[in-house]
Amino acid sequence: MHRARKRFGQNFLQDDGIIYSIVALINPGPDMHVIEIGPGLGALTIPLLRNLDELDLLEIDRDLVAYWNQKNLNGLTVIEGDALKFDFLDWAKSRSEKNGFCKVVGNLPYNISSPLLFHLVSAASEIDEQVFMLQAEVVERMVAKAGSSDFSRLSVMLQARYDMELVLEVPPEAFDPQPKVNSAVVRMIPRQDFDLSNTQWSALEQVVASAFSQRRKMLRTNLQAFAERLSLTELELKARAQDIAVERYIEWAKVLAA
Ligand code: SAM
Repeated sequence: MHRARKRFGQNFLQDDGIIYSIVALINPGPDMHVIEIGPGLGALTIPLLRNLDELDLLEIDRDLVAYWNQKNLNGLTVIEGDALKFDFLDWAKSRSEKNGFCKVVGNLPYNISSPLLFHLVSAASEIDEQVFMLQAEVVERMVAKAGSSDFSRLSVMLQARYDMELVLEVPPEAFDPQPKVNSAVVRMIPRQDFDLSNTQWSALEQVVASAFSQRRKMLRTNLQAFAERLSLTELELKARAQDIAVERYIEWAKVLAA
């Protein structure tokens, strides 16, 4: 039997009710292309495969890769690799050639969740939906609105690219071994109105990083380098990064990139 490896963030889902809810949310169907990050021992994999013609698995743990290869299941492609380095854009392009909806799903290893979410942004143009289980605290930051103390760089950057919804909260008892933190499932759909060029996206990264560089300081200080070009209002000069709405950051990025 496989022993859970801490360094790969292995906490295996055990709760049938929660597994059922997550699979229902993913809503697998025959002309859909799905890649699951970190299948582990298959809590989601097996029920997903029942409703899909094809499922790709991306797993870093060599023993689990061998476990899945040995099963030799119909429709399953096992990829040994690190999700942080995997080319999701290329994956989605190759899969959608055959027409269909591309989804990335997984009960993610919590130690890499933020860098992985940022890594996936580069593939957002080709991926229709992402459904992930993450540490609840991270999901709360992802969906937080301006004015909330959870509103952060992660909130702005991800909300600029996706519509996101916290769908389900999951307690530690649903896993074996149990994590120390609560978990939550988030659904992410690329925004239909997304219209930033690469240059504008880089400007967004820059202005958001500067605004949040010292959370307690006013934008007068944090955005000093940009203030003139952005024509910040008196109110904005006195505001803090967490008080500014995502859409305003997007406007600023467009001005800076012009
Ligand atoms: N999906 C299973 C479940 O729900 O029971 C396992 C979830 S476990 C929290 C995370 C999984 O991601 C493990 O299978 C682990 O080996 C894998 N993993 C960890 N780091 C990874 C990485 N960088 N790339 C791909 N898979 C990774």
